[in-house]
Amino acid sequence: MMMSPEQLTGKFTTHLKEVVVGQKSFFVHQDVTQDLLSLKKSATQAGFDLCIASGFREFSRQAAIWNAKYDGERPILDNQGKPVDPDTLTDEDKVLAIMRWSALPGASRHHWGTDFDLYARDRLPDNTTLQLEPWEYLTGHQAEFYTWLREAAPMHGFYFPYDQDRGGVAVEPWHLSHKQTATIAMTQLSLSVLAKELERAKEISGRSVILSQLESLYNRFVVNVS
Ligand SMILES: [Zn+2]
Repeated sequence: MMMSPEQLTGKFTTHLKEVVVGQKSFFVHQDVTQDLLSLKKSATQAGFDLCIASGFREFSRQAAIWNAKYDGERPILDNQGKPVDPDTLTDEDKVLAIMRWSALPGASRHHWGTDFDLYARDRLPDNTTLQLEPWEYLTGHQAEFYTWLREAAPMHGFYFPYDQDRGGVAVEPWHLSHKQTATIAMTQLSLSVLAKELERAKEISGRSVILSQLESLYNRFVVNVS
């Protein structure tokens, strides 16, 4: 389906449906609901309590995450996931470092209702909070679930956009995307659609730095996926 610029950038939720997955309800793109529920069912049959750590995220929420990092209220992480001193970074480098781990407001795949950060709740050890760090999925408590998910995801129409480090967004084994619907959304979220939304978003910290290099940020972090 065609999505409007507001739907593509997390400002409108008119294309979403509220769906219960596990113990909570989430806003899900209406073309994704059935496949998500069939993936959940298949996980249950395989013995996993599949849950969503993060699904749809609206523009204002992404803007709050972005501003907290840019303004120094939340740590900016280096490639190894260690906090860096923001005073040692130029504004341009600050934007690049944030975008390794956090999307630009308006350019998060979580705006579409097609993308989800998944985990198996029953595999999380007692008194442990999910960190969404690669080791949990590759060698830790989520490894068995991840092995299953890699095989099951394509059968339900999903894939992993951040399966490898392509020099843009860091590897995110937990991040699953509905291939057909997200691919359509990606095509529609052109550089000019994104630019227009960001020009309007006066509340975003570092906005002029972002806008001055938007084309290269778009090519490196937004479209540079599997
Ligand atoms: Zn994600």
